[in-house]
Amino acid sequence: MSIESQITDLRAELPEEVTLVAVSKTYPASDIRKAYDAGQRVFGESRPQEMKAKFAELPADISWHMIGHLQTNKVKYIANFVELIHSVDSLRLLETIDKEAAKNGRIINVLLEIYIASKESKHGWDSEELSQAIAEGAFERFPNVRVKGLMGIASFTDDMEQVRREFTELKELFVSLKETFGKEFDTLSMGMTSDYQLAIECGSNMVRIGSRIFGARDYSEQS
Ligand SMILES: *Cc1c(COP(=O)(O)O)cnc(C)c1O
Repeated sequence: MSIESQITDLRAELPEEVTLVAVSKTYPASDIRKAYDAGQRVFGESRPQEMKAKFAELPADISWHMIGHLQTNKVKYIANFVELIHSVDSLRLLETIDKEAAKNGRIINVLLEIYIASKESKHGWDSEELSQAIAEGAFERFPNVRVKGLMGIASFTDDMEQVRREFTELKELFVSLKETFGKEFDTLSMGMTSDYQLAIECGSNMVRIGSRIFGARDYSEQS
């Protein structure tokens, strides 16, 4: 099926309140253009330099989301245009984003990445670490960052009951933190090609879908 029809099908399938992030990492700008022409405006990338190059080449009304693990020394590549960073996994990274946002006269929207999988993702906060940081007032120190919600990656497994438990745990944490972060804390990013339907059932309102739209990824040309 073509990229255009995958976008059209997905938009018809997803509930209205669920934002589709088309994960375009590793795919060429020409593929993004096809999705764009089918009406898609939100794209997710996992490498800062790749995202910056695509930003320069593609239409200005695209909303660029950083979804991959982000090193502090690379925040500068994306700070002037990124719409949402899904993968904030430390206070050190948050501090860097805050500084780079200030330099660019912007407030940058972020999600806190929570560690929910049994072993797949090595990144993210566990809920105890997060409660402690909140109790210490850590998040009040960054005026140029807006914490919009949470992101999680479930285990890569056929055991859908395990995936359901992980998504449910993330949803519960999300609900419990709303009071802390206020009414702009409204985004729960969970679900990818293999598990987005279940994620939506469990309360996701932002799904990150790549291979279902663009086909199998080829990493061979990447360094
Ligand atoms: C690559 C990636 C996705 C998309 O994965 P697909 O299985 O291709 O849909 C989603 N989220 C993150 C964090 C990713 O790195």
